[in-house]
Amino acid sequence: MRRIGAHVSASGGVENAPLNARKIGAKSFALFTKNQRRWQAKPLTEKSIKAFKENCTEVGIAPQHILPHDSYLINLGHPDPDALARSRDAFIDEMRRCEQLGLPLLNFHPGSHLKQIDEEHCLKLIADSINLALEKTQGVTAVIENTAGQGSNMGHRFEQLTRIIELVEDKSRVGVCLDTCHTFAAGYDLSSYAAAEATFAEFDSVVGLEYLKAMHLNGSKSSLGSRVDRHHSLQQGEMGTEVFEFLMNHPSTQEIPMVLETIDEDLWAEEIRWLYSLERG
Ligand SMILES: [Zn+2]
Ligand SMILES: [Zn+2]
Repeated sequence: MRRIGAHVSASGGVENAPLNARKIGAKSFALFTKNQRRWQAKPLTEKSIKAFKENCTEVGIAPQHILPHDSYLINLGHPDPDALARSRDAFIDEMRRCEQLGLPLLNFHPGSHLKQIDEEHCLKLIADSINLALEKTQGVTAVIENTAGQGSNMGHRFEQLTRIIELVEDKSRVGVCLDTCHTFAAGYDLSSYAAAEATFAEFDSVVGLEYLKAMHLNGSKSSLGSRVDRHHSLQQGEMGTEVFEFLMNHPSTQEIPMVLETIDEDLWAEEIRWLYSLERG
C-alpha cells in the first residue's frame, strides 16, 4: 500500500500530529518534534510521548510511516567548528526525540558549506555528523533529503548523496528522502512520465533505489534547474502532474512515507484523494 500523508502541525504537542493527519485522510505524516526555528526545546514529557503513541495507534498510522523533520537551524556541514558542534548536539537531540517516540526515521537537510570550505570537505563533515549521531543513538535511520541546491546547500546532486552514504559507517541506518520540488529545481526533469522514469533510473544507478526511504510530494513554482526552492500545490506549477502518476505506480514507493509539503493546506485532503485516484490496480 502507498502511504500518502502531509507535514501536519504538532502545535499544542506532538500528540496532536496524528489527529491532524486523520482529519485529512492521511496514511502517513511528517512533523517537527520541537519548534523548528529555535535551538532550545523542552524535553518531551512522558505524558506527551504516551499520548503520541496512543493516538498513532488509534488513527492506524505505524511508526515506520511517520517522518519527523529536524530543525531548519541545523547545519551538519558547518565550516565553523563551534557552530558545527552546536548543530551536531541539536541533531543528536532530534534523534533522541525520535527514539523516545519510537520513530525509526529522521528526515534532515544535509548542510551548507557557506562558501567557506569546498564541497568535498563539507560532505565529509556531514557524514561525520551522521556517524556521530548514529553512534549515540539506536534504531533511528538518518534520512537525507535532497535539496534544490539553493545558496550553498549540499545534496542537490545525486552524486553528493552517494558520497555522504559512502562515508557513513552503518549503511543500514542511512537513507534518502526525495523531494519532487527540490529534485526538479536541482535540474532533474520530472515534467513528463518519461522524464520521471529517466530521473528515477539515474537515481537508481547513482544512489540506489534501496536507499529511498521517503518522499516529499510537492509541486514547484520554480523552473527546472533554477535551484530555487519554492513549493507549489500538486496540480499547479512548473512540473506538471505526470510525475505523480509515475510515483503512485512505482514499486519503490510502496510502504514508504510520502508526505505533502504543498503550500495550501486546505487542499491536502483533496490532494491525497487525487493521488490515490492515480494508482492503477
Ligand atoms: Zn525538508
Ligand atoms: Zn521537502
